[in-house]
Amino acid sequence: MNKKADIGLIGLAVMGENLVLNMESKGYNVAVYNRTTEKVDKFISGRGAGKNFIGTYSIKELVDSLEKPRKVMMLVKAGAAVDALIDQITPHLEKGDIIIDGGNSHYPDTIRRTKYVEEKGLLYVGSGVSGGEEGALTGPSLMPGGSAKAWPFIKDIFQNISAKVEDNIPCCDWVGQDGAGHFVKMVHNGIEYGDMQLISEAYHIMKEYLGLSHDEMYNTFDEWNNGDLDSYLIEITRDIMGYREDGKPLVENILDAAGQKGTGKWTGITALDLGVPLTLIGESVFARCLSAQKEERISASKILGSPIKKFEGDKKQFIGYIKDALFASKIVSYAQGYVLMREAAKENNWDLNYGGIALMWRGGCIIRSAFLGKIKEAFDNNPELPNLLLDPYFMQKIDKALHGWRQVVAQAVLNGIPVPTFSSALSYYDGYRTEFLPANLLQAQRDYFGAHTYERIDKPRGEYFHTNWTGRG
Ligand code: NAP
Repeated sequence: MNKKADIGLIGLAVMGENLVLNMESKGYNVAVYNRTTEKVDKFISGRGAGKNFIGTYSIKELVDSLEKPRKVMMLVKAGAAVDALIDQITPHLEKGDIIIDGGNSHYPDTIRRTKYVEEKGLLYVGSGVSGGEEGALTGPSLMPGGSAKAWPFIKDIFQNISAKVEDNIPCCDWVGQDGAGHFVKMVHNGIEYGDMQLISEAYHIMKEYLGLSHDEMYNTFDEWNNGDLDSYLIEITRDIMGYREDGKPLVENILDAAGQKGTGKWTGITALDLGVPLTLIGESVFARCLSAQKEERISASKILGSPIKKFEGDKKQFIGYIKDALFASKIVSYAQGYVLMREAAKENNWDLNYGGIALMWRGGCIIRSAFLGKIKEAFDNNPELPNLLLDPYFMQKIDKALHGWRQVVAQAVLNGIPVPTFSSALSYYDGYRTEFLPANLLQAQRDYFGAHTYERIDKPRGEYFHTNWTGRG
């Protein structure tokens, strides 16, 4: 009898194909299935030829080819397809078998599915997979959550195929119960929106205000990539600055209307639902929305004029300020993202390991950066840290960057350059460190028009007062 497979995979599209090739290269025997079965033949005779794959042509055949407890991983289009597949797979499984969803599912769906599958005596894992096609093949960042009992059975495969950072530490660990893995992946994607928008604002100022050439910007990003900002996104931005088509920078021929698939929006909506000020990611989503209104912006620019004036002064110094603004804003973005995770953990009874999450993002994924190592250290030093802005390392970094950050935001505002993430990050920072915000007036207004009551600073919290502001009865 043929050897049974260690794991089965449903969905031989871009991600599935690459992930199973990764698994096979690490010594696992993988059974594969795809709804359109021609893709199974194509894979087995193509990229999978001569390797340890078992091609299967029905879900029953896939399940029958697996070692127990069976592990069936889905890498299919997120949404209804996942629910449909769960219902097709479960009748063939036995108690203790594991269904894994590696797609970009929305975490409330994963919470619901975990419960549904566990009620059938089976185990469910919803795992974030980041790093795109190349990551899937060479080592993604993996963020698994769901039925904790499943982890010992999938840990070996997951950690072996994941990206590794210094000392061979895998960028994969158990995140938490039910939807925690997909939640953390969602926040990762939101942070990715923020990082990309921050870099784009830096580019905008350098190009339009400082008038730097693409070679100068290439050199700037290259230099930044060797310091605190060392990251995949800075690295690819440098390369984009250097890319020429017919001798001209290709980036300038690309339409300035950004697309989005919705994970940034989900992150923003979750923050609004939980009452967390996730301003930077929110602004990043809105910046994409505004960019997409290209036709309207063209008309408006003709009516309202283009206000950008050219910089006069010490360019080298101002480039340093832009770097400060970028780094400080990035700290704020991660601080806000971590506050969101903390609040969601409370809401959903998840026991999240914040340092471990930083480590999972340290390699393999789009937001990978040296900076994440510092976040890991911050939570190692204080697992209860309420906000990254209070960690001594980040405090000292922001302190050093503050002057430059303010200069950039001020000059951008004075000269009509939109900097929604640089400026919202600075406002958050200033708001967070302000003892008295004008919300006293806000509460007075609410009480005035709606009798919403207010608390007083000269009385204990929890005592509510109402004033008849107009004296009318
Ligand atoms: P995809 O285009 O999202 O989905 C195509 C796959 O889903 C095909 O195998 C397709 O089978 C299958 N499928 C669709 N509806 C189905 C149904 N009702 N029943 C069974 N199978 C069904 O593929 P992908 O780009 O490889 O992504 C897979 C998952 O990973 C998605 O959730 C995606 O969001 C996530 N993800 C993608 C990336 C990326 O860079 N692409 C990165 C991270 C995560 P057929 O061949 O029969 O149509």
